[in-house]
Amino acid sequence: MGSLQEETIFRSKLPDIKITNEMPLHSYCFEYLSRFADRPCLIEGATNKIYTYADVDRLSRRTAASLTKLGLTQGKVVMNLLRNSSEFVFTFLAASRLGAVTTTANPYLTPGEIKKQLVASGASMVVTEACAVEKVRDLAKENNLTLITIDKKFDDCLYFPDLIEGSDEVELPEVEIHPDDVVALPYSSGTTGLPKGVMLTHRSLITSVAQQVDGENPNLYFSETDVILCVLPMFHIYSLHSILLCGLRVGAGILIMKKFELVPMMEWVQKYKVTIAPLVPPIVVEIAKSPLVEKYDLSSIRMVMSGAAPMGKDIQDAFRAKIPSAYLGQGYGMTEAGPVLAMCLAFAKEPVDAKSGACGTVVRNAELKIVDPETGASLGRNMPGEICIRGQQIMKGYLNDPEATKNTIDEGGWLHTGDIGYVDDNEEIFIVDRLKEIIKYKGFQVPPAELEALLITHPSIAEAAVVPLKDELAGEVPVAYVVRTKGTEITEDEIKQYVSSQVVFYKRISKVIFTEAIPKAPSGKILRKDLRSKLNAQVS
Ligand code: ATP
Ligand code: MG
Repeated sequence: MGSLQEETIFRSKLPDIKITNEMPLHSYCFEYLSRFADRPCLIEGATNKIYTYADVDRLSRRTAASLTKLGLTQGKVVMNLLRNSSEFVFTFLAASRLGAVTTTANPYLTPGEIKKQLVASGASMVVTEACAVEKVRDLAKENNLTLITIDKKFDDCLYFPDLIEGSDEVELPEVEIHPDDVVALPYSSGTTGLPKGVMLTHRSLITSVAQQVDGENPNLYFSETDVILCVLPMFHIYSLHSILLCGLRVGAGILIMKKFELVPMMEWVQKYKVTIAPLVPPIVVEIAKSPLVEKYDLSSIRMVMSGAAPMGKDIQDAFRAKIPSAYLGQGYGMTEAGPVLAMCLAFAKEPVDAKSGACGTVVRNAELKIVDPETGASLGRNMPGEICIRGQQIMKGYLNDPEATKNTIDEGGWLHTGDIGYVDDNEEIFIVDRLKEIIKYKGFQVPPAELEALLITHPSIAEAAVVPLKDELAGEVPVAYVVRTKGTEITEDEIKQYVSSQVVFYKRISKVIFTEAIPKAPSGKILRKDLRSKLNAQVS
C-alpha cells in the first residue's frame, strides 16, 4: 500500500515563515502601500509614462467602479486579451477588488482559440487592444459580451480611457471575498495537451508570492529600490506572478515592454537601470550568443531569472561569462502549482550558492517529493522520477473538470507535475524533461531537452529542437531541427558527429533537419508538439 510506505519529502533549506493569506490578493499586494506610495510602480518604456503606487491604487479602484457598473460583479469573469500594458494591471486589480475573476489570453491566439477560452471560462467581458479586436468582435455581439479596447476607439467597443475618466473610485461596492475564491483563471499553455482553465485563488496566489518575497530572508530578494524588467507576457503566469504580483508586494518599479526585441530591451535596461531581469531560455540564449550585448551598459542588472523551460548548464555558464555582474539562476514553475515550485537560493537575501543547470530548491512552506511514475513509490535523492508538490499555493483545480483535477491532485493533496527530475545531495532540483516528451529508443530514455542543450553549445547552431520519429526497429529515434547561426555552413554529418562524441549510443541523433526558426510558445517553450506533427506529415 502506497500510504504505508516511507516517503522521502524534500523541503526548503530556508525555515518556514508565517504567511497571512486570509485577505484578498489586492489588499495583500498593497499592504505596505503607504511606504512607497510616491515611488514609480508601472513604467511604460514606449511612452515614458510612469504611474506611481498611489496612481495604480487609485486607477485600479476607478477601473473597478467602472467595470462593475458594466456588469462585472462578484464571481463574474473578465478576459484580459492584452499584451503587456498598464491597463492589464488596472483591470486585473479591479477584478480582484470586485471579487471577480480574470482569465488571461494571448492576443495572438487565433479567433478559434480565443473563442474556446471565452466560452469555457464563461467570461462576460473582454478587455483588448486594436490588434485583436477583429478576432472577438462577432463573438462579442452574438453573446452579448462587453468589449473594451485600451488603445483605439471603435464604434462598437467601449474605450478604456473614457471609462476611467468618467468614473469615481469611491463608488465601489462592498464585497466579501473568501480566501478560496478564484481570482485568476489562466489557461495552461497547452504545449503538450489541451489547455485547461487553472483556478488560482486569493489564498494560493498570496501564498506563492509570500513564499518568494516575504520573511526576514526572502528566497527571492526584491525590494522597493529595484526596477524589474517586464518583457515576458503578463497573460502567462510566470510574468503575472513573479514580476507583477511579487513586484507590487515589495514596491518595486515594473518596466513594461510590449514585446521582446533584443536591442530596445538592452537600450531600456541601460536607460532605466534595470536591476532584475526575469527571462526565458530563448532570450538567455540570444543574449549569450549575441555580439551586440557588449555595446550596452547592462551593469545595473544584479539578478537574471530564467524559468518556464529547460536551460542547460553550458548556456547558463556562457551567459554568466557575458554579463558577470548579474547572477543568473533558475526558477521552476507550472501554472497549476500556483505557480512556483522551486527557486534558486542564490536569489535569497542571504544568498546560498547554486549550481548551473539546477532549477532551484523547493520553495518554503511547501513539500516536494519524487515518485516512480509507474508505481507511485516515493524515491530518494538523485533518483529521477515525477516531481510532486504540496502546499497552500497550488491550484484549487481545473475549471469544470473534476476528472482532470483528480488525475492531477491526488487524495493526499499532491500535485503531479508530469515533469521528470531529481533532487541532489544539496537539495537542488534538476529537471530531466517532461514525462510525455521523453523519447524511448529501444526502451532507453532519451530526454530531448538534454540533446537540445548540447546542440546549442555548438557555435554554428543558433537554436535546436529534438523530437521523436517512429522507427520500426528502435520504436523511436531522436531527430533534430536545427537553425544555423547566420553565415555558417555546418552539415548534418558534422552535427551528428558532434553529438555522438559526447553521448551514449542510444542518444545519438538519427537525422538533422535544417530550418529557419523553431516554433515556440510565448513562455519560451519549444512547441515540440508542432514539430512532431510536421515531422510525421513529412515522412508518412
Ligand atoms: P500544458 O500543460 O497544457 O502542456 P504547459 O505545461 O506548457 O501547458 P505551463 O504551466 O506554462 O504550461 O508550463 C509548466 C511547465 O514548464 C512545467 O511543467 C515544466 O515542464 C516547464 N518548466 C518550467 N520551469 C522550468 C525550468 N526551470 N526548467 C525546465 N522546465 C521548466
Ligand atoms: Mg503543464
